[in-house]
Amino acid sequence: MTQRSEHHRLIIIGSGPAGLTAAIYAARAELAPLCIEGIEAGGQLMQTTEIENFPGFPQGLMGPELMINFRDQAERFGTTFLTDDVSEVDLTATPKVINVGERVFTADSVIVSTGATARMIGLESERALLGHGVSTCATCDGYFFRDKELVVVGGGDSAMEEATFLTKFASKVTIVHRRDQYRASKIMLDRARANEKVAFVEWAAVTEVLDDGTGAVTGVTLTDTRDNSERRLDTDGVFVAIGHDPNTKLFSGQLDSDENGYLRTQAPSTRTNIEGVFACGDVQDHEYRQAITAAGSGCAAALDAERFLASIGDLPDPSVDADRDEADHSAAVAG
Ligand code: NAP
Repeated sequence: MTQRSEHHRLIIIGSGPAGLTAAIYAARAELAPLCIEGIEAGGQLMQTTEIENFPGFPQGLMGPELMINFRDQAERFGTTFLTDDVSEVDLTATPKVINVGERVFTADSVIVSTGATARMIGLESERALLGHGVSTCATCDGYFFRDKELVVVGGGDSAMEEATFLTKFASKVTIVHRRDQYRASKIMLDRARANEKVAFVEWAAVTEVLDDGTGAVTGVTLTDTRDNSERRLDTDGVFVAIGHDPNTKLFSGQLDSDENGYLRTQAPSTRTNIEGVFACGDVQDHEYRQAITAAGSGCAAALDAERFLASIGDLPDPSVDADRDEADHSAAVAG
């Protein structure tokens, strides 16, 4: 099979605030970046409603609207977008190889901004009932629970935010947390506590999601985290808000990561362990995880990539027609 690889000076993988800010800066630096934005483009803010803390928008705006603005701005200066998921990479090769299904891209530099994904409790019943009363996104699914009773699992800002948001629809929201200390900020915790529709159950873990044979959530089993005693709590839905995991599987064995799987960068830069590969946003930040900090690190990654590309000079376009069958192709990617 004849396959032509397509070369870019810079490829950005991911399209949340980090990736799109990198795209804006790189495009304005005339690097003509390709942003492989993913099938579910736009990152976590696409699943958010109102954003009140993004500077420059005193009245707030909707998450998806903000991301459309980011994308339009990146496109305006010459970013090309590919709405697909990267299937494989070889970042150790020169140039770097990025596969998107059967398509092969090469790049002199790569910015990784693949973000993070919502964590699940890990129960079989939770997975089986996902979309049938179990959700990881209150803003996506809250609407379906008008006048229903809900459980939100977690003790961080996400749990407080989701619980507070869900009271717009639900008649009662019970926050289930495995201890009595909260990671949530005081303001978010106080807001949830002040909401008369919100109840708290502490020292409890959801250890089973129940459907009583209906195919939709009817309750949960709560296990006391101190004495392991069990009890049932009736509910119409379970919102899991227990944090996120970085999307780093693609880079495993190539890019260094910390004990939680977040990519390691060489602070204060966005450099990874591979020359010419930079990481920004939630994929490398488990500390701040805000749209504005992700955007800031995206800007830094674009500046780092620009400096790197300047340091290696203008490379000739290495796009070549290559006769590659499946085996050759795999070998090239495995590097
Ligand atoms: P988080 O701060 O890591 O909190 C996760 C919570 O889930 C913790 O309370 C944790 O319990 C609990 N948890 C983790 N795994 C669990 C499991 N398997 N079973 C039961 N409970 C489990 O995550 P987050 O709330 O998603 O927040 C992440 C970051 O985003 C934070 O920096 C936060 O400030 C930020 N954020 C900000 C806003 C906002 O400002 N509007 C909104 C959302 C998030 P333990 O405490 O016992 O570990």
